[in-house]
Order: sequence, then C-alpha cells, then structure tokens
Amino acid sequence: MHQFDFDVAIIGAGSGGCGASRTTAAAGLKTAVIEGGKEVGGLCILRGCMPTKALLYMAEVAHVVKNAGPFGVGVKNFSLNFKKAMARKNRLIKEFADYRVQQLNSGKYKFIRANAKFRDPHTLELIPLPGNGKMPSIITAKNFVIATGSAVAPSPLCQLHDLGCLNSDSALSLNKLPKSLIVLGGGPTACEFAQFFARFGVRVTMVQRSAHILHDFDADASAVIESVFRREGIRLFTGTRLLDAKRKGKSKTIIFEHNRKTVSVSAEEVLFALGRIPNTRSLGLENAGVRTTANGTVIANGRMQTSAPHIYTAGDCCGKYEIVHVAIHQGEVAGCNIARPNSTCTDYRLIIFVVFTDPQLAFVGLTERAATAQGIPFLSASYPFNDHGKSIIMNAMDGFVKLLADPKSGEIIGGACAGPMGGDLIHEIVAAIAKRMTVHELAAMPHYHPTLAEIWTYPAEELAAQIDRPSRA
Ligand SMILES: Cc1cc2nc3c(=O)[nH]c(=O)nc-3n(C[C@H](O)[C@H](O)[C@H](O)COP(=O)(O)OP(=O)(O)OC[C@H]3O[C@@H](n4cnc5c(N)ncnc54)[C@H](O)[C@@H]3O)c2cc1C
Repeated sequence: MHQFDFDVAIIGAGSGGCGASRTTAAAGLKTAVIEGGKEVGGLCILRGCMPTKALLYMAEVAHVVKNAGPFGVGVKNFSLNFKKAMARKNRLIKEFADYRVQQLNSGKYKFIRANAKFRDPHTLELIPLPGNGKMPSIITAKNFVIATGSAVAPSPLCQLHDLGCLNSDSALSLNKLPKSLIVLGGGPTACEFAQFFARFGVRVTMVQRSAHILHDFDADASAVIESVFRREGIRLFTGTRLLDAKRKGKSKTIIFEHNRKTVSVSAEEVLFALGRIPNTRSLGLENAGVRTTANGTVIANGRMQTSAPHIYTAGDCCGKYEIVHVAIHQGEVAGCNIARPNSTCTDYRLIIFVVFTDPQLAFVGLTERAATAQGIPFLSASYPFNDHGKSIIMNAMDGFVKLLADPKSGEIIGGACAGPMGGDLIHEIVAAIAKRMTVHELAAMPHYHPTLAEIWTYPAEELAAQIDRPSRA
C-alpha cells in the first residue's frame, strides 16, 4: 500500500473548495486545503457576490432616499459619499474574510498557504507565498479536488487591452468615481455594476452584443431591466459588434456597429465585463492526466470526477454555472464521492439565478425559452407588480412573476420574478419545485395579506383553472 501525506488535498479555498473540505473532513479523511491567493476568502467574499451586493444595496438606499417624494418624505441636502460607501463595503468584506480564515484554521484540516501545481498524479509542488514561514515543498495525496475558480477573460480586441479597462476586480477598489463609464457586456455583473455606478451619479453607457441584456432570462424579464435602466438614464445599446477602442487624452472611446451604423461613444472609464475563464493554466494538469476543454475548463462527470479518476473538481474552474450554491454543491458531491466512491451525483434541477439589480431578476427551474428549446410542454401565466397591493404600497411596480406548469399534472416546473425582492421571492418557488408541488397546491396555500409573496397565488390560480383535472404521470 502506498503511503500518502493526506487522504485528500484540495486546491483552492473558495466556495467549491470549502464545500469539499467540510465534507471530507466530516467523513474523517485527513484533508489538506491549499490556498494561493494574496488574500484568503475566495471570489465570492473578496471580489464577487458580497462586495457587489454591499455596494448595490447602498445604491438602492440612495435611490429610495432620493425618490422619497411620493411617500411624503422630503430630503434636503441629499448627497452621496462614495468614499464612505467603499469604506463600509471594505469593512464588511474584511469581517466575512476574517470569519473564513477562522474556519480554515479551525484544525479540522491542514490549511496551507501556497500555490499548488501537479508534479505527477499524486504529488503537488507547493510554491510558497512570501512571509508564510517554513513549509513542505511537496505533498502527496490519495485524492485531490481542483477548485481553483476563474479569472477575468482576456479582451476580444487587443485595442481594449491597450486602452486599459476596469474589470470587476479593479472596479471594486476605485478610490474615486469616474464622471462617465462605458460598460461592455450585458450579463449579471455588467448590469449590477451599471446600475450601481449610475445611481452614484456616473453617466453610464452599456454596450451589449446580443439583442437583450441578461439573455439567460426570458426576453420579457430582460425587458423590465432594460426599461428601468433607460428610465434611470443609462444609455443602452444592444445588438452591437465591437469594432475598435481608442484613447484621446483622458477620454476612452469605444467604436461599435449598431443598427448597421458605426457608433462611437467616449467616457472617462471603460468597464470590461465580458465574462471569466477557468483558472487552470498554471496547475500542471497535464502532469496528472486531467483533461480540459480548449479554454481550460476541467472536464468532469456528474460525480465531479475528472479524466484522472482519483482527481475531482468543483466550482468555476469546471464551468457549467458560475454561481456560489453550485460551486458548494459540486464541492460537496466531490467530497462525498471521495469518502464513498460513486455515492452521489450533481443535481441541477433546482438551480437558481438571481441578478441583484433593482428590480431584481430571478428564476428557478425552466424558463419559457429553455422549455421551448428542450421541447418540454408547458403552460405559463404571469402577474404584474403594478396590480398587486403590497408593491403598489411600496411604489415598486416594475415587473411581474411568472409560473410554468406541466399542462397535464399541473406540477410547477419553472418560476421567474422580475420585481421587488425577486431574489428572495423566488425561494417560495424553489421550495415548491423541490417538493414537486402543483399549481393547485400553491394556489391553496395560505399567503398573508398584504405581502409581496402573495403575488404567486395569481398565476397559480390562473394555471389551476386551466388544468381542472390534474393527472400525475
Ligand atoms: C463581480 C461578481 C459578482 C458575483 N456575484 C455572485 C452572486 O451574487 N451570487 C452568486 O451565486 N455568484 C456570484 N458570483 C460568482 C461566484 O463568486 C463564483 O461562482 C464563486 O465564488 C466561485 O467559487 P470557486 O470556489 O469556484 O472559486 P473561487 O472562490 O475563486 O476560489 C478559488 C480559489 O482558488 C485559489 N487558487 C487558484 N489557483 C490556485 C493554486 N494554483 N493553488 C492554490 N490556490 C489556488 C484562489 O486564490 C481562490 O481563492 C459573482 C462573481 C463575480 C465576479
């Protein structure tokens, strides 16, 4: 029997790595977690979910205060303090990161600060971080989990590279707001930053390649955000093709094709938000027999096992969905299968998507577009927030909720919300889909009046009336 230093070595202490290490340590396996970032915390805490949501919430507070007139609330001397907002964000992030460091040093596993690289299928070379004392230069393990996350994607135009753009990392550490900003991209990160900066007084222009922003959602949901953005003064160009990027003095210019015309837009800064790529290039995966796609995505099966059967993976580096709850789920599945081989598989039936703009966008299960593309029969019904008591009280009347149901059984197969608290409201439908509830059961469930959640009963009732004799397959 070969003796290894560890039963499991996990590379990366982000959401995926932590999901895996909790699971293997709880199963009694001798686990090492190796983290090579300058700071400990992973993308979610340091430069992803938490800092962006902290800033967006502050922008929402500012927006509510500034627009409090209809509530009979007058605000004299309204002002925005970007430095204070950033300081609050930094303080919160430090608290979250400190807590993560505490967990990693809890003694349940060996926490090593180094960059890891495979020397052979069972050996990692550890490249120490400055100031981290004496440590082994190699470790061996029976199993591994690759959970090294993602990095900002390279720009599609070399001119953009020469221009020097902000990205989601550097935008979070600005000391000063630019007067104007061009946001390249129309995904969740692009939209969240665009609204944050616009609400802090920056003149924002968005340039998006596809016909709608947020194209994972149905077009009616994206259209809600597009109309709110335009109302709030964001210039939005969709259906574009990037042509060139230039600098003139302090101004940066993006040139693109839009409606068959060449358009040129200038601003003080450009935010490059065109996605991320797997962070796997320097891992020496070829030395371990781990296969990747052309862009470096680690290829894995449903048990999160790579082409080297003793090496597993989790999180953004293996693609599919770049979302925290998926990274954690994949890490846990990898950990379970290491502890008990072939014991479990990933399940994406309940995958949730949320965009933290105001109004928020969220969906779970199938969208109409996905159901149509997959040939899955469905009935759908929507209900608008401008006809709902609680949202009228809140003056939050943009958007709607939508339910998709199986036409025969009435089982709920999808839910979407574009509206106030959409990211929270969607969880009622997550529970309904998890328990395979029908629209009849949802409609019959008590909902307190007047609440935002009560709105789900309207599409549920409409669909229940259409499926009056439900039959389960
Ligand atoms: C701006 C932004 C906002 C986001 N907002 C949300 C949101 O609201 N909700 C949501 O669900 N998701 C959000 N995401 C996505 C989410 O943050 C990621 O999906 C998630 O954090 C990925 O976790 P991970 O464990 O795969 O990677 P990471 O958290 O990036 O962890 C990987 C770790 O591996 C370390 N590492 C890399 N290489 C090595 C090596 N060779 N040796 C040792 N260590 C190494 C890195 O330092 C890092 O700490 C957002 C992302 C961005 C960019």
